[in-house]
Amino acid sequence: MNASAPSKANFTKQPGSQNFLQVENPATGQFLAELPQADEDAIDLVAMQAAAAFEHGSWRNLTFAQRGEIMHRAADHLEREAGTLSEILVAETGLPIRQVSAMHIKRSAENFRFFATDALNMRSEIFETPGSYTSTASREPIGVVALIVPWNAPTVLASIKLAAALMTGNSVIIKPSEYAPLAVARLVEILHLSGVPKDVLHCVHGGGQPTGDALVNHSAVGAVSFIGGTETGRAVLRSAAKGLKKVGLELGGKNASIVLADCDIEKAVAGHMVTMFAGNAEQCLSASRILVEDGIADQFIAELEKKTAALVVGDPMDPQTDIGPLAFSEHLQRVEKFAELARSDGGYTVLAEARLPSDQGNGHYFAPMLVETQSNDALLNQQEVFGPIVVIQRVRDLDDAIARANQSEFGLGAYLWTADQEAIAKASKKLRVGTVWVNTVMTRDLRAPFGGYKNSGLGRDGIAGLLDLLTEEKTVIVAQQI
Ligand code: NDP
Repeated sequence: MNASAPSKANFTKQPGSQNFLQVENPATGQFLAELPQADEDAIDLVAMQAAAAFEHGSWRNLTFAQRGEIMHRAADHLEREAGTLSEILVAETGLPIRQVSAMHIKRSAENFRFFATDALNMRSEIFETPGSYTSTASREPIGVVALIVPWNAPTVLASIKLAAALMTGNSVIIKPSEYAPLAVARLVEILHLSGVPKDVLHCVHGGGQPTGDALVNHSAVGAVSFIGGTETGRAVLRSAAKGLKKVGLELGGKNASIVLADCDIEKAVAGHMVTMFAGNAEQCLSASRILVEDGIADQFIAELEKKTAALVVGDPMDPQTDIGPLAFSEHLQRVEKFAELARSDGGYTVLAEARLPSDQGNGHYFAPMLVETQSNDALLNQQEVFGPIVVIQRVRDLDDAIARANQSEFGLGAYLWTADQEAIAKASKKLRVGTVWVNTVMTRDLRAPFGGYKNSGLGRDGIAGLLDLLTEEKTVIVAQQI
């Protein structure tokens, strides 16, 4: 294994004293690119430009339809470049090309097209006080919005946030993860080429320190939309609180999947193989703890064991590959520690492991693992691994499953597999999570709220939540008789 492989992003002092970050390919450990890291001064410059662009109004004074046209143009451009962009994404993330080609760029273009409709068009509301005055409530863009996105699905996540923040008329500064900045940087270039002015939209590079923190702290930034881990989210919230900024946090998850005895087992198994392992299981939406009802448990677990053991781990550019390398070496080491715990702690039984590729080179490969334990308190049932280790528990019935699912610091999502309408109604009501998927996996309608309960987040995506984060409300009260 590659525990000693170099870190994916290294900061090296260059002559001229500017910090650079180096991006590496997790499949090979090879150097991909070097990018200048924005320090506090660089962030100040960019933030002032973004604020000045907002003041001049070149973007926010366009009509909604004009901005929408530019989003459509960007979507067209993305689709034309899908092949190259997919390769960039695979090279910097290790995500399997089959999934990236089928989903990531396509979904990113769809995100631009969705927000190009009038979904976020800001309507005014009028309140009459007869014979006295009229109040008109309207929304305005907030000004400068900072977007901070992680490495696991960079373009899908960035495209939602970019489209929403731009369509509401804001200036935008986006910071991709230091581990996967290249495809997002190209996304921003594509938006520029499509007509978004360069002083309105900026992409900055660098780690959480100093770049992310300087961005969140800058006085010109009015709102921060953050996607990442719970601990980082807390730090972002603390920094933003100093300037009383609006903050949206989409954070970690430890999503339970409840499998009841009456479910369509074939569909449930197929769905689990997607939700447990898509995107190298480095997905906030992954089902990482399975709660299966006793009556169906033996059959269901046997199917998952067989399919997990057969997963193809290997070169992410090979269309046969199901699981590519994990995104960077520290992450691999972290996931391996969880695997070691599963092997050495008597409370767990390892049910299945896939095979590592015979030639791993310097890639950060990890073999997916299926584990069983009856302790809901077990570390693997409580901590987010963010990699392909899935834990199974057997449950007596739906009530037992719901109680176990809810005993978690996280509350992002949950899955339910059943044909029973009463069970669906009960679980939907009782599960303390932002999204419940029933007999389906990982689908999302961008109009609907999306976000987490408890330590999984603050605020929501979806029409209402995005408008709240990205706009200010203003009321104008006019006397009816002058
Ligand atoms: P991190 O929290 O480590 O980083 C997220 C982003 O924040 C990165 O761009 C990072 O920069 C930046 N950052 C780090 N420190 C600071 C700081 N002090 N101030 C401002 N920005 C900072 O998460 P990961 O990138 O490791 O992503 C994985 C996590 O994201 C998982 O917990 C996952 O569940 C969560 N996630 C949640 C989603 C959701 O919708 N709920 C969706 C996808 C992921 P850098 O990496 O360059 O240091």
